[in-house]
Amino acid sequence: MSALHRLLVLVAFSCAIVCFSSAQAGTLVASTHPLYLIAKAVTAGIEQPVLLLPPASSGHDINLRPSDRLLLKQSDFVIWFGRDYEAPLYDLLENQRNAIALFDLKAFHRLPLRDVKGRAIPQSLDPHIWLDPYNAIGIAYAIATVRAKQFPRYASQYMQNAKNFSVRLQHVVRAEQSQKPRTYWAYHDAYHYLEKSLNLQFAGALTADPDLPPSMGQLIWLKQHRPHANAVCLFAERQPNSALMRKLQPMDYYPIDEVMAASTDFIQGWQALAQRLEQCVQ
Ligand SMILES: [Zn+2]
Repeated sequence: MSALHRLLVLVAFSCAIVCFSSAQAGTLVASTHPLYLIAKAVTAGIEQPVLLLPPASSGHDINLRPSDRLLLKQSDFVIWFGRDYEAPLYDLLENQRNAIALFDLKAFHRLPLRDVKGRAIPQSLDPHIWLDPYNAIGIAYAIATVRAKQFPRYASQYMQNAKNFSVRLQHVVRAEQSQKPRTYWAYHDAYHYLEKSLNLQFAGALTADPDLPPSMGQLIWLKQHRPHANAVCLFAERQPNSALMRKLQPMDYYPIDEVMAASTDFIQGWQALAQRLEQCVQ
């Protein structure tokens, strides 16, 4: 059974709980921006999904308003990643019949989190699964499968949209594949799922928690374990302060946005990310 086929069986199983709880066309809510962009591609021409959090908000920094809680209750399908990425949603969605957590499907290509020195942490899950293009395609088919069951009238269109998404994304991935290996530092370990497609090698992170500043000990470790004497590329979702930048010289900073807040299309967002990482030249 192919990975995608296995995923669709799992989705169909979860759907037995979610899909028949509503007969009316209602709202599809996606938790964070990358999921919303995938949902938008899958539902094009049929419906308009709703994004729960502001586009720039990642699963690491969730602040829910009372209206968000209401939206989650009133929608007929909520798709979210799960506790490992969006912990504050767990209490609300864990037992909510209209919600599917992608991490619960025990599918997708999964990678472990790594500590700041690059060592894999046993039994951990790197939650940034959408950055792996084949996971993004799996997510598109998962959404299409649920929506097709909920609204059989549009079933073929949902599945066709997922197929178009898959073809377009694979085309972009082939175009962006890089032969040239590049070593990088990350502010927090968020780009593991892009390493294979883009030939990147992780040389350590500044901090394990994106909300916490790097420790002095870790800055010393990074300096002592520089992968080479040239400027090391630092991929980061926020600009480190200038004192920190000075400590890590020579270093080039590349701002990366894991949730693709500036994009209105997932595939363009993925391509923009790939091209930004491609600018890291050593
Ligand atoms: Zn992250």
